[in-house]
Amino acid sequence: MADFRLTDDDHALADGVRAGTRRALAKAITLIESVKPEHQTRAEVLLDDLLPNTGQAFRVGITGVPGVGKSTFIEALGMQLIEQGHRVAVLAVDPSSSVTGGSILGDKTRMDQLSMREEAFIRPSPSSGSLGGVAEKTREAMLLCEAAGFDVIIVETVGVGQSETTVAGMTDCFVLLQLPNAGDDLQAIKKGVVELADIVVFNKADIDPVAADRGAAQMRSALAMLRPSSANWQPPVLTVSATRRIAMADFWATAEQYRQAMSESGELAAKRRRQSQAWMWQLIDSGLRARFRRQPSVATALPKLTEAVEAGLTTPAAAARRLLDMPGHAFDNLKFD
Ligand code: GDP
Repeated sequence: MADFRLTDDDHALADGVRAGTRRALAKAITLIESVKPEHQTRAEVLLDDLLPNTGQAFRVGITGVPGVGKSTFIEALGMQLIEQGHRVAVLAVDPSSSVTGGSILGDKTRMDQLSMREEAFIRPSPSSGSLGGVAEKTREAMLLCEAAGFDVIIVETVGVGQSETTVAGMTDCFVLLQLPNAGDDLQAIKKGVVELADIVVFNKADIDPVAADRGAAQMRSALAMLRPSSANWQPPVLTVSATRRIAMADFWATAEQYRQAMSESGELAAKRRRQSQAWMWQLIDSGLRARFRRQPSVATALPKLTEAVEAGLTTPAAAARRLLDMPGHAFDNLKFD
């Protein structure tokens, strides 16, 4: 970004973020979420300027079906962490809002206590765009929160489509919240979410402790059959009550153990490097795809070729090759000298 400089206003904005001002942080996030090209350029410059101030936080992803108690859990956890002197940012990835027009995560009043606290920052999911777009903005918002001195970043998502994989791909520790009724754990296993989990938590254990213990035991044996993603960590299964705030301290102690084990073995740094690379490639892929579609020759030929593929008049492979070989698309402008 050598040709771009921060404007005076954005300099002040960057300083405001670094000073931990919530208003500056909110404004900076609004800038990165803007779809206006001039805002995007300013956002890139701002992020580059703040990048040296990022990376220090513990990034925790939390998922679970609607109603499992995510917001209750995050509020209880957040309050506990604040008591211990942490500053906590809560972000969300909710692609459902762009698909259904309504949000699964964001509409109701959530986390009343936490949202009143100076030491907390709560930001709902960007409300438009594909999952990729929403995730990209959330990743950038996470960096801004880190620059603003928040040392625990919680990214919440619901079990919709690919959103769990996406959030697991941007956090250090991925937590799956479960309900203590039979069958729920099997659903999660089928969907492959359990493979992503570093910690599994059965919430609402106060309602039926026996069922919670049974669910936890089933989950432990299911996890034991999976190949652990690390030689230094077997995902533990806990039971808690978010409303009664039972065993929330145990949960955080477990998360801290995870962080320590992964840091000492070098796996956390390796994971973050992999995540950054994957993120870059995701942006390259979506950027190339967008440029490809904008090429006049491709834009003209695409509808006819799509129809031909649908009608069985040509194979997808032949159609793809013809489109990719069309002159004047993105690659022709690349120079490698
Ligand atoms: P979310 O949709 O996953 O964010 O779930 P919420 O946090 O909104 O919780 C859904 C409902 O479950 C609310 O009525 C909560 O009060 C309730 N709830 C959450 N955690 C617990 C818990 O540990 N025990 C009990 N009994 N109820 C809970």
